[in-house]
Amino acid sequence: MSLLEVTDLRVSFPTADGIVQAVRGVSFAVERGRTLGIVGESGSGKTVLTQSLLGLTPGGQISGTAVFDGVNLVGLEPKSMQRIRGKDIAVIFQDPLTSLHPLYKVGWQITEMIRAHDKSVSKKQAMERAVELLGHVGIPRPRERVNDYPHQFSGGMRQRVMIAMAISLSPKLIVADEPTTALDATVQAQIIDLLLRLQRESNTALMMITHDLGVVADIADEVMVMYAGRAAEKASKRDIFYQPHHPYTKGLLESIPRSSAAAERLKPITGQPPSLIRLPSGCAFHPRCAYVMDRCLTDQPELVPVAEAGEHRSACWLPAAATGLSDDVEELRRRTVEMGRTDEAAKVAEKIAAAPESEGSVIA
Ligand code: SF4
Repeated sequence: MSLLEVTDLRVSFPTADGIVQAVRGVSFAVERGRTLGIVGESGSGKTVLTQSLLGLTPGGQISGTAVFDGVNLVGLEPKSMQRIRGKDIAVIFQDPLTSLHPLYKVGWQITEMIRAHDKSVSKKQAMERAVELLGHVGIPRPRERVNDYPHQFSGGMRQRVMIAMAISLSPKLIVADEPTTALDATVQAQIIDLLLRLQRESNTALMMITHDLGVVADIADEVMVMYAGRAAEKASKRDIFYQPHHPYTKGLLESIPRSSAAAERLKPITGQPPSLIRLPSGCAFHPRCAYVMDRCLTDQPELVPVAEAGEHRSACWLPAAATGLSDDVEELRRRTVEMGRTDEAAKVAEKIAAAPESEGSVIA
């Protein structure tokens, strides 16, 4: 059984302008010792999704189930949630300064964390553990630095302190929400190495929430791509990077800056993510999609297997091989027609063939 099994999770927020549908029926699982990368632009629902699992979405209306180690987190009373959060599920946020109290020494903050969940640990024992943890996450001279305040650490070092706090109670699951976004590339790589090492040592499961596919390439085993509150594609890292199916995933991959292609222009995904109050009909990605077909405007695709075997799933009406072949229109036409979706397939191929190269969307 998976450590965390989320089924049909929905989160919405009533506002004066209407209901914000932040998460719209998402299902996934996280296994012990594995890393699930959750990727998407701002507003895709990835952060609300994880915060709702941790009881951090006040005012949110939540339905579905999220069974963690045998306990359904949805609807869990605050006291029980507090016991799980921090001890069994630890969280690392993007900006450690918002999580670390500026007026308390880091050693004190780590010892408080430990003692809040285990009163049998003395202050002295907890402080020894804090020193050990700081050393473990690569803080030099931990016995001295344990008495420093957060502002006396660099951004990367503060993130290490947050990781030390996160692992202080040996959690079963670590949720890392954009933990490297505020860091430069070198420190980012060090933090990712650290997370991977800690995960290997303790078989902890990791959920990495990020907008950065480069981070996912470094750390994830499985990837879920989110768009407008739903899972657009879910697959192994290999399939996401080498055989993406959903046009949104493909757009994200094409917009990654590559050092080997300095002279090449980036290919951003045209348009903006939709309002979560007034979502487009049918497939929410259709206003930005280069492959849009008539049925995309009216019918919402479900997340279904791309091939008969395997775990690769995509929420898109296109046939399995279509999006990977966008550069070769004849091949796309041949394959899609062969797959029996003649009318729509022919239309897609026509539209792609007719669109000027610079045009982002070929919707009529
Ligand atoms: Fe959505 Fe249609 Fe584009 Fe697939 S082809 S992503 S269903 S608009």
